[in-house]
Amino acid sequence: MTTTDPTATEVAPGEFRMLIDGKLVEAAGGGAFDNINPATEEVLGQTADATAADMDRAIGAARQAFDNTGWSTDRALRQRCLRQLQVAIVGEQELLRAELVAEVGTPVMVTYMAQLDAPLAESLLWPAELIDTFAWERELPDNHAFGMESWQKVVKEPVGVVGAIIPWNYPVEILLAKLGQALATGNAMVVKPAPDTPWTATRIGRLIAEQTDIPDGVVNVVPSSDHMVGEQLVVDPRVDLISFTGSTATGRRIMAAGAPTLKRLFLELGGKSADIILEDGDLETKMAFFGFMCMHAGQGCAMLTRTLVHESRYDEAVALAEAAMGTVTYGDPTDPGNIMGPVVSARQRDRVLGYIQTGIDEGARLVCGGGRPAHLDKGYFVEPTLFADVDNSMRIAREEIFGPVLVIIPFRDEEDAIRIANDSEYGLSGAVTSASEERALAVARRIRSGTVSVNGGIYYSAASPFGGYKASGLGRQNGSEGFEQYLETKTIAGSL
Ligand code: NAD
Repeated sequence: MTTTDPTATEVAPGEFRMLIDGKLVEAAGGGAFDNINPATEEVLGQTADATAADMDRAIGAARQAFDNTGWSTDRALRQRCLRQLQVAIVGEQELLRAELVAEVGTPVMVTYMAQLDAPLAESLLWPAELIDTFAWERELPDNHAFGMESWQKVVKEPVGVVGAIIPWNYPVEILLAKLGQALATGNAMVVKPAPDTPWTATRIGRLIAEQTDIPDGVVNVVPSSDHMVGEQLVVDPRVDLISFTGSTATGRRIMAAGAPTLKRLFLELGGKSADIILEDGDLETKMAFFGFMCMHAGQGCAMLTRTLVHESRYDEAVALAEAAMGTVTYGDPTDPGNIMGPVVSARQRDRVLGYIQTGIDEGARLVCGGGRPAHLDKGYFVEPTLFADVDNSMRIAREEIFGPVLVIIPFRDEEDAIRIANDSEYGLSGAVTSASEERALAVARRIRSGTVSVNGGIYYSAASPFGGYKASGLGRQNGSEGFEQYLETKTIAGSL
């Protein structure tokens, strides 16, 4: 494999150590696990492999920092620390970029967007700025209950210790979103990165320790090859809130495991989002961008993986989609011309290939792709894959594949399109295309999902609440809604 981007050539060994109570430390048992480059299948290096004892210490440190330091009440300190952290990460932005490409297999092109540059510009600073304008307290009108006169006020306070559990697909973006909002609101945190992508998190842990005034224990970063070390956060009574991004299956498990301690939950889960193209929509322009659905090998929770097209334009749409899939540039993720790299692991590749076989077995028509690319002998690559003649009841239309696999489903009329779009256990995102913005907006209002794009509109920013209806989750990342999720509400009354 040739490497064409000078920013992503040699990847220096990543940060091996975890961050616990302000110290960069090895695992209690001295263990380590491999970090694999999914594009080359080579071992990049190793990371400390946290045990139950390490996680226990990290939770204790966060609890202590929250309960016994001024962090939870010192808003000026928090604002300063978030700004320091942003500057520190910008100082290592190119190293972080190379690391992301190497451990995630994300195309370097995507790091200039949602993987790195976009969240780095906003995710820490937006909540830091909100500290100044947020209504931390508000007065209520005097109360006359039970013949007594009282004044009342509502006070917003941090929830306490946040367990932040991160997936591998957008590890820096999601980590920064959680750090920004949880720290701005005054919480302490234990971060548990995904085992596939530890180094981007341990690097940020080192920067916190070395280049910010964030007090010891306020942020702990605990990588582990064992998912059950993450589950400790969910069951430990010292943790107040779980901020989880990952699969719906794990989200359900977390909800059940968190019930005995009545955990506050913020769950960002999977999706199977519908892209509705009404019969008056500009099909040619729309389908020209169809190949972008393969960006980062389809490993995005909000990808529009079900395309719904009016039956009168169905054949035309399939032909245009096939042509667009043929233009997808993929291979070496360090090549700035590629929009698609490998999927993250052999396990994930086999899962995606399994779904493709399921689609064939269910009777869908495989239009293109469907296998491992013949010209790439190393790496966990899957060809851009398109299925037509798909019925919404098929598993490939209902389940999240998390690979470069797209399905096209015909609909009869607008009502049918809305019915099919909403006939899903998920409700994360969606899109509507029409010659009439008014008509597209009317359809968008009826889609049961947390975000909808109308005629190509982009809802992505630190100010834009992002999250799911139904099995796509609880709560919102970003926006003031996201900020408030990390706060408790206290009503105080005094007699007049
Ligand atoms: P995953 O659920 O397998 O793992 C996510 C994280 O949870 C990892 O850190 C993992 O170690 C940890 N984990 C696993 N089991 C756990 C348990 N029992 N208790 C506590 N922690 C546990 O998900 P993944 O495969 O890493 O990520 C892909 C999934 O994430 C997809 O379903 C995708 O849609 C979803 N995702 C959603 C969003 C969103 O914002 N809605 C964003 C990105 C990814």
